[in-house]
Amino acid sequence: MIVIKKTMAFLLSDYKKLLEFLKKKGYSFGPVKTYYEGVIPPFIFLRHDVDRFSSRAVKMAQAEHDLNVSSTYYFRCGRKGAFPSGSIKKIAALGHEIGFHYETMVREKGDLSASLKLFGHELEGLRKIADVKTVSAHGSPLSRYYNADIRKRLPLKRFSLVGEPMVDMDFSKILYVTDTGGTFGSQHNLRDRSVGRNFKIPSSPFSLGEMLVPEKEPMILLSCHPERWPCGGVGLLQAAGMDMGAIVLKKIVRSLRR
Ligand SMILES: [Zn+2]
Repeated sequence: MIVIKKTMAFLLSDYKKLLEFLKKKGYSFGPVKTYYEGVIPPFIFLRHDVDRFSSRAVKMAQAEHDLNVSSTYYFRCGRKGAFPSGSIKKIAALGHEIGFHYETMVREKGDLSASLKLFGHELEGLRKIADVKTVSAHGSPLSRYYNADIRKRLPLKRFSLVGEPMVDMDFSKILYVTDTGGTFGSQHNLRDRSVGRNFKIPSSPFSLGEMLVPEKEPMILLSCHPERWPCGGVGLLQAAGMDMGAIVLKKIVRSLRR
């Protein structure tokens, strides 16, 4: 595990070790949609927002499959609605859930009705590739608009969805853990948090694994961005560099907004 000053990136093998360690502690794992079907605790819902480098998501999906674990991969599309269909098909074939990672509020500059219309259109495009039951908002930390602003107003039934985890999960009971900001519990995470319980202690995968105990934390939503978990050292430096760049940009945006 390489630690680069304040920010960190980790290897896919570290992620595998984290899952194996938590499995030994008694946790079961599953995709986000299983929350709406009912699960037996201790249980960890695995969420992956595929922001960039969908090939890294395929590798993570294969690693989970090797451990007999399934999870949810949320995919974005380009401005013309194109999804990385090859990666999506491979991940769905491994038994994982495919979800829609929407950013329609930013694309429609805060216009709610235009954003919902675009949401429906892009979701339809993703459904031509895979079944979709849940959706999650892309952070877009550098934009003045919040994609998450439409999540409370999503007509789930109309879109044949079962939930948007950040709205339709009970975070008074579930602990939200994310690697946004470069490490688990990062202080550089500006927007990616639940309305309830959030893990806030900056931690490596190893120390996170140590801290999570089924008796204290029976239900967890664990969000890991596949682009932060490459297979080798070059990807590690590149992921850490991206994090450092993002931290600097977030600081500039924050000071400009003040
Ligand atoms: Zn995202």
